[in-house]
Amino acid sequence: MATPKHTTSLGCPVHSPSTSMTAGMPGPIVLQDVHLLDKLGHFDRERIPDRVVHTKGAGAHGFFEVTDDVSAVTDAKFLNRVGKRTPVFVRFSNMVSEKGSSETVRDLRGFAIKFYTEEGIWDMSGSNSPVFFIRDPLKYPDLIHTQRRHPQTNLHDPDAYWDFLSLVPESLHQVAMLYSDRGIPDGYCHMNGYSGHTYKFVNGKGEDRFVKFHFKTNQGIKNLTDEKAASLAGVDPDYATRDLFARIAKADFPSWNVYIQIMEPEQAAAYQWNVFDVTKVWPHKDFPLQPVGRLVLNRNPENHFAEVEQAAFSPANLVPGIDVSWDKLLQGRLFACTDAARYRLGANFTQIPVNAPFATRVHNSQRDGRMAINGNGGSAQAYYRPVEESLAGADLAARDAVADTPERGVGAAAESTVAAISAPKVDHQIVMRHRVLPSDDDFVQPGEFWRTVLGADERSRLVSRLAGSLARTKRPIRTRVLGVIRRADAEWAAALEQRLLTPRI
Ligand code: NDP
Repeated sequence: MATPKHTTSLGCPVHSPSTSMTAGMPGPIVLQDVHLLDKLGHFDRERIPDRVVHTKGAGAHGFFEVTDDVSAVTDAKFLNRVGKRTPVFVRFSNMVSEKGSSETVRDLRGFAIKFYTEEGIWDMSGSNSPVFFIRDPLKYPDLIHTQRRHPQTNLHDPDAYWDFLSLVPESLHQVAMLYSDRGIPDGYCHMNGYSGHTYKFVNGKGEDRFVKFHFKTNQGIKNLTDEKAASLAGVDPDYATRDLFARIAKADFPSWNVYIQIMEPEQAAAYQWNVFDVTKVWPHKDFPLQPVGRLVLNRNPENHFAEVEQAAFSPANLVPGIDVSWDKLLQGRLFACTDAARYRLGANFTQIPVNAPFATRVHNSQRDGRMAINGNGGSAQAYYRPVEESLAGADLAARDAVADTPERGVGAAAESTVAAISAPKVDHQIVMRHRVLPSDDDFVQPGEFWRTVLGADERSRLVSRLAGSLARTKRPIRTRVLGVIRRADAEWAAALEQRLLTPRI
């Protein structure tokens, strides 16, 4: 195929794409070299703001296929038939790492999936952990700041990190998982994904159920040892991106089996844990994983910036049949994730192809703003009810009254929640109980994780990694961390204390 002729960004042919125009030899360059102006002017504007978290990432296209019937519990159309496939785009990432950092560092991994459903876009923006450090979004900026660089030294600050965590003991469950072997997955394909958050399924009868999503890797769980991760950080910091791209390029498509845990509102009200607390899991024996489908990634992006960098995920992207719960962190993210996309990409970010709901049509009264590139609603009136209907004599007052009753669609589902709160049979006051302050509950699951999930070798490595990091903190902070761990398991704390006392730390 012949190489296309070089042009300016306005499509005009450029006869000399590699040489500036000068006034004689050797120069100077002339201002009328519009190709040069075009090229430099665009180069100056190549960078957009980085994501404030999940900055470094890789992505791929694929599909989600329903394998098991869940139509009794959700009205979501993309889930309503076994065998139905929905296109997806997935972005994996490191949570707090900077853009140039290695993909082999100990950090949470983002696991964000965009489902292009026939009823609009649903995003499942989860991670490789079933829990999170905090349950209150007010603490989120502080959590991230403690993992950033010190304001003066511009160095990472273990004192700030561990001081914060020791004062937020509900973080221990996440800390234990992060410093376990799974804290450094071997690339993006050997890890599970979790919604972490509790969502709500709503079926055609308007019945609510709480759900959590689990994506179990079919490649098997595989992690990097600390030594291997450190060596890769030096020789191949883009290890995970390379691995994902190479697998798909050679048609070795990674896949995950998708499961849900389902909880009835009555069970939620009576359950020992606050089911909206993202620092807790729902034990499998109480709420077994139920199969729903499979996720397959089978197409690499054609262009990283266009598809991966510009992809914007938010839990506020919901479809009928899937709603949010009162999980506080999830509620905070409804604002923060979409707000971040508007800042980073502009008000019309949903018109960027990777973010556009291509399986359906957008029909609303949003207009204008920077980069309105999809026709901007054409000649249609820019308010929610076309003037043509009013002139044709439609009974608009009656239709407005109808808007107060539950209807199928995003934004209307709040009605069913309101109905549920006032329903006498479920005491939602109990479900809603506030766990703002740490309580003994916060130490039960981390203790169980230490005692029953980890084997002896993994426990020893966990202790060694915690000691390695804590050794760089001031003594009062270390002591406070030990106090937090002691509340979960005395032997764990003793092992860590012993390790911190050994001279090689
Ligand atoms: P189970 O005893 O039924 O299973 C233990 C779970 O832990 C498995 O899902 C396993 O994943 C996972 N796991 C194993 N090693 C690690 C690790 N290093 N980091 C994170 N997860 C790991 O679990 P229960 O439901 O009874 O809960 C017991 C404890 O297990 C919980 O307190 C929690 O700490 C942990 N856990 C629970 C999950 C849940 O959703 N219930 C999910 C993940 C962890 P795999 O099946 O892939 O081996």
